[in-house]
Amino acid sequence: MSRQLRYLILLLILVLVVGNETYLKWKVASWDESLQVRIYAINADNSNASNSYINRLRISDFVAIEKFVNREARRYGINIDAIRVSYGGELADVPPQPPVSGSAIDNIIWSLKFRFWAWFRETEDEHNDADINLYVNYFDVATRQSLQHSAGLRGGLIALINGFADRSYRGSNNVVITHELMHTFGASDKYGRGNQPVHPDGFADPFQDPLYPQTRAEIMGGRIPVNASKAKMPDSLSDVVVNVFTASEIHWPVK
Ligand SMILES: [Zn+2]
Repeated sequence: MSRQLRYLILLLILVLVVGNETYLKWKVASWDESLQVRIYAINADNSNASNSYINRLRISDFVAIEKFVNREARRYGINIDAIRVSYGGELADVPPQPPVSGSAIDNIIWSLKFRFWAWFRETEDEHNDADINLYVNYFDVATRQSLQHSAGLRGGLIALINGFADRSYRGSNNVVITHELMHTFGASDKYGRGNQPVHPDGFADPFQDPLYPQTRAEIMGGRIPVNASKAKMPDSLSDVVVNVFTASEIHWPVK
């Protein structure tokens, strides 16, 4: 294939991807119909633990995400179900993994690769009519003590999420998945050094007196601030809210 032709095809794909994203961003920002969110599982470490965990995954394992977003959206006056979550099962095809400690350029290249990968996959999949696709990498908790950061492309409508293949992490996996989902709606991170939520933006109750300890986490703050230098991961979405700072970023009406 000639070089010009290859460039032309690449350019065409880019135009299609960007056009599709622009349409979806507009749809996301309007919140006048339910957004379809589809979750896929990936055995990222090729382990038996991840395999048996994924085999037992059902839509019921993700229902908490839908309930959380719809409950919080209603608090801000969205009178429809903001999202509907479905589970697409396991994918054999592993998405491009983000660079471990890459430069800004490495991250941009990865995000383009991931976009292309997702776009090709979605066009091949005739059952997929989702607006937002979330890809969850599962890892065996026995061999991975900590996970790399998950990545939701802000306003990109896809996210790559890292989760633990263990029942006891079901609630916290759902917190991470929802955090990345909120990125795809356009929400920004609200935590700083040591994963400590930033005050006031990253707090569930920023004007509580005394300020500490907080009892809930803000979804983009990510953790429950115990004191000025310590925060803990919420066990489930029952301990999480969307505050006004995040709500305004994703175009939920803030009075
Ligand atoms: Zn984030």
